[in-house]
Amino acid sequence: MSNSISKETSCLCGDVKIKATNINPKYTVCHCETCRTWGGGPLFAVQCGADVQFEDTKSLKEYDSSDWATRGFCSNCGTHLFYRLKKTGEYNMPVGLFPPIEKLEMTMQYFSDKRPDNYCFSNKTQEMTEAEIHAYFADSV
Ligand SMILES: [Zn+2]
Ligand SMILES: [Zn+2]
Repeated sequence: MSNSISKETSCLCGDVKIKATNINPKYTVCHCETCRTWGGGPLFAVQCGADVQFEDTKSLKEYDSSDWATRGFCSNCGTHLFYRLKKTGEYNMPVGLFPPIEKLEMTMQYFSDKRPDNYCFSNKTQEMTEAEIHAYFADSV
């Protein structure tokens, strides 16, 4: 992809070092209950493709959060590191994990029907409800 971006970062304690070489600056927000429980709020995530490298993984733990995805975090400091699709191995990673990413743009909100009514974003984005997501991703799960 011509507009993909490369960044290096680490978790808060520095145990897990990460290099993502294919970051798409058009990011998504997920309002599903799992994401909100996991992070205390909606998950702001950039797609990083399957090409993500981890250096020194002794503190990297993975949690099997659904039939189709795994979530990774640092077991020492608790930093959330990724949401990875099992079928494709593609990573979605928290936007705030990285140093500033050029041309970031919120383009999609997933599980828009699960968004609690105590917050909303004024960004103009596409939205998908739970039913639309299940229909759209039925083939890839
Ligand atoms: Zn850590
Ligand atoms: Zn979610």
